[in-house]
Amino acid sequence: MRSTRCVDGIATIVVDASGLGRSAAAQLQRELEDAVSRVDGVDEVRVALMADKVQRQIIVVGSGKGGVGKSTLTTNLAVALAREGVKVGVVDADIYGPSQPLLLGTAGQKVRAEGQTLIPTESEFGVKVLSMGQLIEPGKAIAWRGPMVGQALSQLMDADWGDTQLLIVDLPPGTGDVQLTMLQKFKPAGAVVVSTPQDLALIDATRAIDLFNQAKVPIVGLVENMAGYLCPECGAVSSPFGQGGTESASQALGVPFLGRIPLAMEIRVASDTGQPPAASDTPHGPHFAGIARQLGEFLGAAKG
Ligand code: ADP
Repeated sequence: MRSTRCVDGIATIVVDASGLGRSAAAQLQRELEDAVSRVDGVDEVRVALMADKVQRQIIVVGSGKGGVGKSTLTTNLAVALAREGVKVGVVDADIYGPSQPLLLGTAGQKVRAEGQTLIPTESEFGVKVLSMGQLIEPGKAIAWRGPMVGQALSQLMDADWGDTQLLIVDLPPGTGDVQLTMLQKFKPAGAVVVSTPQDLALIDATRAIDLFNQAKVPIVGLVENMAGYLCPECGAVSSPFGQGGTESASQALGVPFLGRIPLAMEIRVASDTGQPPAASDTPHGPHFAGIARQLGEFLGAAKG
């Protein structure tokens, strides 16, 4: 409560609603109006809600092609940062394969709306999430073009994110309508680009980096996923997609190399069952935590 006053039957109440989402703030307003209107001598109640504006940052996670682990990285970065106390939300903008509700274990929850404003669902990992998959029927996404895509993306970005400090956006692969709307309208603080180590994937990743460069979005760095496979039977390490390609590509492109994540069956199995490896002390958690730490440092520096 910042101040209260009652003059000529008009009660004026100023309340600090910082950190409350829009629906919680509206409920607080209704409850105050209701309670104060019952006080003797009060004919009219005026409630003013004040809120410190949340300085929300946006990070996009992109890749040149699909299937390289962009969604897996998005989920685990979000979970790792949430474990560090950051209030994180994930926007699943991958219209071709929306998977965040599955990865964060919220697939069974229905998304709610208050008027036109969507209310993000809460995962058990302290990460909020909204997905394109909740707006469109499965299988229809491919037919979506420019304006519809832009509108849907805006609905996700402008949802009731409350006190969320960081939105991590899982972009579709490539350089299409979602990317353009995202870059032009929402001006991310930075982009993380994921690639597998082989040349073909790296050529595509380079194209994604070009797009971010053109839009003047700083590149946080490149991540190499599916590097080095440890055979659970014989213990030998093999590299189905090669190794080290992403690190040398990042040197050639002059962007930071954030780290590599091994190709591991546990990562796939845990992800498919909505248990992100970064959520608990699994052997692969530290790979994601290391990249998340660097992202945290980037965000701290970007805030100034
Ligand atoms: P993208 O978002 O780039 O299309 P996904 O994150 O959906 O890629 O990953 C594609 C598939 O590969 C998923 O089944 C995922 O569980 C699996 N996967 C991703 N990274 C790894 C990894 N490091 N080890 C094993 N499986 C992985």
